[in-house]
Amino acid sequence: MTQARIIDGKAFAAGLRQRIGKAATEIKARHGLTPGLAVVLVGEDPASQVYVRNKAKQTVEAGMESFEHRLPEDTSEQDLLSLIARLNQDIRVHGILVQLPLPERIDEIKVLAAIDPEKDVDGFHLINVGRLWTGTDALVPCTPVGCTMLLKDTIDDLTGLRVLILGRSNIVGKPMAALLLAENCTVTLAHSRTVDLAERCREADILVAAVGRPEMVRGDWIKPGATVIDVGINRIPAPERGEGKTRLVGDVAFDEAMAVAGAVTPVPGGVGPMTIACLLRNTLVAACRQHCVEAPDL
Ligand code: NDP
Repeated sequence: MTQARIIDGKAFAAGLRQRIGKAATEIKARHGLTPGLAVVLVGEDPASQVYVRNKAKQTVEAGMESFEHRLPEDTSEQDLLSLIARLNQDIRVHGILVQLPLPERIDEIKVLAAIDPEKDVDGFHLINVGRLWTGTDALVPCTPVGCTMLLKDTIDDLTGLRVLILGRSNIVGKPMAALLLAENCTVTLAHSRTVDLAERCREADILVAAVGRPEMVRGDWIKPGATVIDVGINRIPAPERGEGKTRLVGDVAFDEAMAVAGAVTPVPGGVGPMTIACLLRNTLVAACRQHCVEAPDL
């Protein structure tokens, strides 16, 4: 039986980080500009702590400045907004990322709206959402940018291909649709109310799963030869590894997909590593735009 090609996001992300590091060094030498990323974390959520630590480490490794702001769980909305106002004014900071989720009593929409759109490296500000959908220079959410890079590396020309995006979140599904529309794909967004979901998936040349349900997409949902991008990160029990052990799986049943698809991203090692690499890319691009320096083509 033929097996699909594995799309190695880990290797692609390592190469991208290297190119970003090189570009950052050149920009520093030529323009005296060191891109800076501020990451704000409220509270003690263990997963968020790990994400923030990794972001800071990779920012420094790429030759950029990292500013970490760890605020206590009981930080008031006003104090958080004051910090964002200071970061908006700080000329050493070109990108601001507020780690989500925020504690429930803080209004996430208000906080994201307070970030200067030019420093909004997560691409969640309404100005950037509008720019993305109208095809003007936007800062675009990192995960969909990473998925699009992997797709363009896997398929020579995306024009005219049928795409099914499973999931319509503001973070993944919707911006993914805008990016693939811009690549001249024919895009369908599916969700929990979609009728005949498996049938819709089977029609797609490109299937992007961003649903948060372990291994929901089965082999017989996939068109033979299709490219499958699995965004999902789900932790499930793995008793075969020992008592209490867990493992990560995507939204796609990987082994089944490998037997049908043309190319598949694994979990872990597919889309995940692209997200932080694209955050660094967005920071570099934001710094260049703020200083009227031509942004490198990454
Ligand atoms: P959300 O929970 O915000 O959105 C999930 C989407 O899936 C919704 O649109 C929902 O539909 C749809 N959905 C849920 N259940 C079903 C179902 N049974 N049938 C069809 N559609 C369904 O998730 P996110 O977009 O934030 O994340 C999706 C996944 O991607 C998660 O596993 C997350 O961990 C992962 N992720 C990975 C990243 C990475 O770096 N690799 C980054 C971000 C997310 P409806 O709108 O109708 O409710």
